[in-house]
Parts: sequence; structure tokens; C-alpha cells
Amino acid sequence: MGMSHSDGVRLDHVVTSGTFSLDGETHEVDNNVWVIGNEEECVVIDAPHDTEKILDVVGGRKLAAILCTHAHDDHVRVAPELREATGAPILLHPDEKPLWELTHPDLLWDVDLSDDQDLHVGGIKLTVIHTPGHAPGAVCFFAPDLGAVFTGDTLFQGGPGATGRSFSDAEVIKESIRTRLFPLPDDTVVHTGHGDDTTIGAEAEALGR
Ligand SMILES: [Zn+2]
Repeated sequence: MGMSHSDGVRLDHVVTSGTFSLDGETHEVDNNVWVIGNEEECVVIDAPHDTEKILDVVGGRKLAAILCTHAHDDHVRVAPELREATGAPILLHPDEKPLWELTHPDLLWDVDLSDDQDLHVGGIKLTVIHTPGHAPGAVCFFAPDLGAVFTGDTLFQGGPGATGRSFSDAEVIKESIRTRLFPLPDDTVVHTGHGDDTTIGAEAEALGR
């Protein structure tokens, strides 16, 4: 599934199915993988269950980076395998270390993400927004050229991500959403880690700024 822009910008999307495990519980989940770039190069946002499915969307393009919204196992499970297959570095916020180690105790990611950092791929700018709450180092990626923000599990259609498990905080996620996401333009499309898109305006109206 892809969307082509006249300037060669491409946003592609694939859904993978598998599990999410934390605190001794395992759940079946479907995850969104977002692939952003042009005809030459791209980045992926999250690397859940299925390397082959992700590589199909990357196609013959250079994978410039594996961007992780956070380190729950359903978002980083195949990141090392994808790195192995493509040579692309894994980027993650360092506050995700405790969660990352639950899934990949013997491996590391390559580059730390930091708040307000700009990343560039295929002529598209992605700004990192640190939005702790669902996880301590959860980040969103804002793409002003696309009028879109990729929120992982921080903001969904229908409200904030889950905060009932270890390393989560309900008050912190609300503060992150209110102070860092709701100031984005109302018509910004929210591409989430699970389920359907929404907009900043729709969620801000529902939650109250
Ligand atoms: Zn999560």
C-alpha cells in the first residue's frame, strides 16, 4: 500500500502480525510499519514481527535507517535482523535502554535519538519529538512536508497509548501529548503504531487541550 507524491516522495505502509509481551503477559497484536522516502532511499519506522514483509516494502531502495518509536518488543523485535539484512543503523532514544534489554539483552542499537533532532531522508525532514509516558524514551517523528506525525504508541485514534504496564506513566503521557503533539497543526495526519490514522485536531478536540 503506497502513496506517491508528485515530487517523488513516497509513504508506504505495511501491517505485521505477531505478539507483544511484557510483565509476563503475551498478547496478539497487529503493528503498522511506516516506510518514508523516495524512489532511491527510505527509512522504516519500527520493526515489529516480520523482516520479509518490511523488506518487500523497501524493495530495491537503500534503507537509510531503522527508526524506533520505542522499544516494546512488538516494535523492535526484528530490528537487528533488518539491520543485518540491509546494513541500516538502528536509532532509538537512550531512555529505552531497560525495555530494549528485555528483548535484545546481547545486542545494542547504533545511534541515540534526541529531542528536537532533525533527520533527513529522500528530501524529507523528520523531527524527533520526545514524548515519554507510554515508555520513557518514546518518540514521535513529525514530517512537516508530509503534514504528518508518526506517533508509535503515544497517540492513537481515540486517545493516548496504554500506560498500565511497567515503565509507563499516565500523567506523563498526557503531558507529552498536550505540550508536544497538540501544538502541531490541527490538520496534521497522525499515523499510529496500531490501527487507523487520525488527526491532531480530532484528538485534541476529543481529549481537550
Ligand atoms: Zn508499546
